[in-house]
Amino acid sequence: MSRSAHPAGPRHADVLPEGHYSAPAADLNVLDEKVWSRTVTRDADGALAVGGIAVARLAEEFGTPAYFLDESDFRARCRAWADAFGPDADVFYAGKAFLSRAIVRWLKEEGLNLDVCSGGELTTALDAGMPAERIAFHGNNKTVAEIERAVEAGVGRIVLDSFQEIVRVAHIAQRHGVRQRVQIRVTVGVEAHTHEFIATAHEDQKFGIALADGQAAEAVRRALSLDGLELIGVHSHIGSQIFDMAGFEVSARRVVQLLAEIRDEHGVELPEIDLGGGLGIAYTSDDDPREPHEIAKALSDIVTRECEAAKLRTPRISVEPGRAIVGPTAFTLYEVGTIKPLEGLRTYVSVDGGMSDNIRTALYDAEYSVALVSRTSDAEPMLVRVVGKHCESGDIVVKDAFLPADLAPGDLIAVPATGAYCRSMASNYNHALRPPVVAVRDGEARVIVRRETEEDLLRLDVG
Ligand SMILES: *Cc1c(COP(=O)(O)O)cnc(C)c1O
Repeated sequence: MSRSAHPAGPRHADVLPEGHYSAPAADLNVLDEKVWSRTVTRDADGALAVGGIAVARLAEEFGTPAYFLDESDFRARCRAWADAFGPDADVFYAGKAFLSRAIVRWLKEEGLNLDVCSGGELTTALDAGMPAERIAFHGNNKTVAEIERAVEAGVGRIVLDSFQEIVRVAHIAQRHGVRQRVQIRVTVGVEAHTHEFIATAHEDQKFGIALADGQAAEAVRRALSLDGLELIGVHSHIGSQIFDMAGFEVSARRVVQLLAEIRDEHGVELPEIDLGGGLGIAYTSDDDPREPHEIAKALSDIVTRECEAAKLRTPRISVEPGRAIVGPTAFTLYEVGTIKPLEGLRTYVSVDGGMSDNIRTALYDAEYSVALVSRTSDAEPMLVRVVGKHCESGDIVVKDAFLPADLAPGDLIAVPATGAYCRSMASNYNHALRPPVVAVRDGEARVIVRRETEEDLLRLDVG
């Protein structure tokens, strides 16, 4: 997205690069509460504190780079989603955003359900005590071994993603002498992007079964005919980082139409629909996400209205937010290493992590914010690009942002809203050691995923 360029400061000559940076904030020391987790403050010395602990202490104790996760914020967001949707709906946290055993325990305590999409995520969920009936199993290519594991564990639902999988899951369930509760994932022809959506008849993607050409109706026919399956509903997930509810409106309407067709053909009203996840968060001050209660009301209004029009009983709704719960609750703390000013262009600020701990900027051109957090500064803003230490020019963490011009090696900077799809997508590129996730709450900090060590690297490399 293109934004007006209005930078200021001594490092900017008349000719400025075309960019999508906004003007610098009036005061770079102010931490926009939209993009930082809820217990983040600046303490009396001007340093950032989270959960009552100053970043200097966190950096000293846990090192950098590291992710710091605001536990009370995470729990509050879980409760906000559960309360907003109430007892007649189900909230499934999408584990792929970030999953660890501590997270599973918090979800369990706060009354949420959990989506998993691999054997590894399922193992983590079960090991940390999530009741199997509160787990949904997703994925476009679940292995036979994964399906067996899920059926044996008794997961609450498997979301069927293809015609082959309908038969596969039915056979496995039958072999285990159970009727597996399933939903069918349909693609409704809605492609949602951050601020817009595109409605199409066909979908050119690997997930799900198309509504178009009667394919989803045929999948329902087959699922209803197999003894090993109990078809409980239809599932639709339209994209990610979505702000506009219009995409959900089209998707809900098309899903309800399918439920009406199923009733007309088979005489059954499926009891559930799942509208997926994808709700957006604020990565920068330009983003304006909606609150869970607004989303819950909008979705329930749409479904109720469409069901009334189709003379259907309103099904139980489920949703699957991942990013919207965990994304805003963490920031990544880095130490500034080298600084390379390019006169008239921008200043490259290198940090001790990079694309190995945050691949989203390189992968999706994602936007992030950044702040100097070990101190405040009254220096002029300078246009920076925050880059990592990897052997790739595309190793960018924050493409365009402003930091104070007196930034120096050894300063601590933090990138907010890195709770989702950062640690979970982290890699060992250049044999980087994946950073720890440290949960902070009420003056206490606790490692929930430890930092990788060089011994870990050598242990995998069997020589
Ligand atoms: C990725 C995914 C989600 C979660 O998406 P967020 O953008 O993190 O909310 C939910 N459901 C399904 C099926 C997904 O693939």
